[in-house]
Amino acid sequence: MNFPNDLFLDGGYRAAADGRRIALVDPATEEPFVEVAAATVSDVDGAIRSAHAAWEGGWRDLAPGKRAEILYRVARVLREHNEELAQLERRQVGKPIAEARDEAGLAGRVFEYYAGAISQFGGQTLPVGRGGFDFTLKQSMGVVAAIVPWNFPLPIAAWKAAPALAAGNAVVLKPASISPLTAIKMGELAVKAGLPPGVLQILPGSGSAVGDALVTHPLIRKVSFTGSTEIGRRIMELASRNLTRVSLELGGKSPNVVFADADWEKAADTSPMSVFANTGQDCCARSRMFVERSVYAGFVERFVAATKKLVVGDPALDSTQLGPMASGAQRTTVEAFLADARARGSKFATGGGRPQSRGFYLEPTVLLDVGSSDRCWREEIFGPVVAITPFDDEATMIREVNDSPYGLSGSLWTRDLSRALRVSRLIESGVLSVNCHNSVHVEAPFGGYKTSGLGRDLGMAAMDGYTETKNVYVAS
Ligand code: NAD
Ligand code: MN
Repeated sequence: MNFPNDLFLDGGYRAAADGRRIALVDPATEEPFVEVAAATVSDVDGAIRSAHAAWEGGWRDLAPGKRAEILYRVARVLREHNEELAQLERRQVGKPIAEARDEAGLAGRVFEYYAGAISQFGGQTLPVGRGGFDFTLKQSMGVVAAIVPWNFPLPIAAWKAAPALAAGNAVVLKPASISPLTAIKMGELAVKAGLPPGVLQILPGSGSAVGDALVTHPLIRKVSFTGSTEIGRRIMELASRNLTRVSLELGGKSPNVVFADADWEKAADTSPMSVFANTGQDCCARSRMFVERSVYAGFVERFVAATKKLVVGDPALDSTQLGPMASGAQRTTVEAFLADARARGSKFATGGGRPQSRGFYLEPTVLLDVGSSDRCWREEIFGPVVAITPFDDEATMIREVNDSPYGLSGSLWTRDLSRALRVSRLIESGVLSVNCHNSVHVEAPFGGYKTSGLGRDLGMAAMDGYTETKNVYVAS
C-alpha cells in the first residue's frame, strides 16, 4: 500500500522545512508502519501565504457554477477512491473497515451537498427607508484554518473543507498528528479533480508545535476547530488577538433517556452502538443513560446482553463492529477512568478489561451505581464506557441531564408524542434524536451548547459561518 506521507501544498507533495517526521502506529498491531512529514511554523506561514494568493488570484472570483462543477468532481473522485481511503483510515486509527467505507462515502456526500448548496446560497434584498435599494452580499473571508481530530479524520476534514471552499474561501487544514493520511489523500484527490493548487493545503503535524502559529497568523480569517474542550478554549483565547472568527466543535457527555412507555427493548438492543461505536471515541457518544425505574432492571439486562454480542476484533474484517482504540495513550486515559470507577465502588456489569494482549483494545464496559459527582459521570471519557442510572420523574431527570458542562447530543425514547416534544425543548443540547440515535445529517446543523462548542458544522449553517455579510445601500 502507498501512503501519502508528506505535506500537500500548492498542488504537490513536499517534505517539512526541517525534514521532521512522525511515525504512525497501527492500533491493531501496535507496529509503526509509516513516517509522515510534520509541518513546522515556517511551513505554516508558507502554506497560508500561498493559499491567500490562490484565493485572491482566482478562487474568490470564480463563477459559482464553476466552483460547483469542481466540487461535484471532487465528490466523484473521492467516491472512486472509497476503498483506498477506507483502508488508510482503518490502518491509521483502527476503524472497522465497514465503518471506514461508510465514512469515506459520507465525505463524498458532503462535497456533493455543498456543490449543490452553492446555487442556493446568497444574500437578501431589504426594505429600508424610501427610495434607495438595499441588499446583502455573502462574501468569502479569505483563508480558513481547519483543525481536525483523530476520531473521524476524513469526514470531519470534509465537513470543514467542503463548505469553506463552497463559500469561496481557501483552506489550510491540519489533521491530528496520529491520523493525517486520509486528509492528505483528500487534498491530493481534490487537485486531481480540478481544484486549483493552493486552494486546499494539507499540513500534517503536531498541534502543539504549529497550532499557535496557525491560529494567530494575520492572514487567517477563521479557525474551524473540532477537538477537545481544553484545546478549544486555548484556540478561542489565541483567536481573540486578531478577532479571528472561530467555530468550535468540542467534547460531549451526551444523555440517552429511556421512558417506560417507550419501545425499551428496541432501545436496549440499539443503544450499545450509540456509545460503543468507534470504540466510544465519538463526541456524540451517549455515555450517560437515564432509564425510568419501572423498566430499569429489564433494560440493563437486555443492554448488557446486546453489549456482549458486539464483535470486537481486527478492523480489517468486514464483520468487526469495534476495533482497537486509536492510540495507546487514549486507552491509558480511559483505563484511568475505569480505575476511578473501581475505587468508588461502581459495579461493572460487563467489560473493564483488555480482550487481547496485542493492539490497543478495550472491552465495551457498562457501569452501574456511578455517583453523580464521580469522574465517570461528569467527564467525557472518550472510550467504550457507559454509565446507566434509573430515574423516577421527568423534571428531576431533566435537571440531572442538564447538570453537565456539555450539551452536544442526546437521545430520548418514548411513545408519548407530547412528552417527546416537551423534553426535546428542555434538554440543553445542540442535537437530539427521538427513538433512534442518528445525530449527523449532512443537510442539518451540527454542534453544541455550553462547553460543547460554538457555531455549527454541516447544513447551510456551516456555509453561512464561512462568509462575511456585507450590506450595500444604493441611493436612487
Ligand atoms: P485534541 O483537542 O487533542 O486535538 C484536536 C486537533 O487539535 C488535533 O489536530 C490536534 O493536533 C490539534 N491541536 C492540539 N493542540 C493544539 C494547539 N495548541 N493549537 C491548535 N491545535 C492544536 O482532540 P482529539 O484528542 O484529537 O479529539 C478528541 C476530542 O475531540 C474529544 O474531546 C471529542 O469529543 C472531540 N470531538 C468533537 C467533535 C464534535 O463535533 N463536537 C467531533 C469529534 C471529536
Ligand atoms: Mn487529544
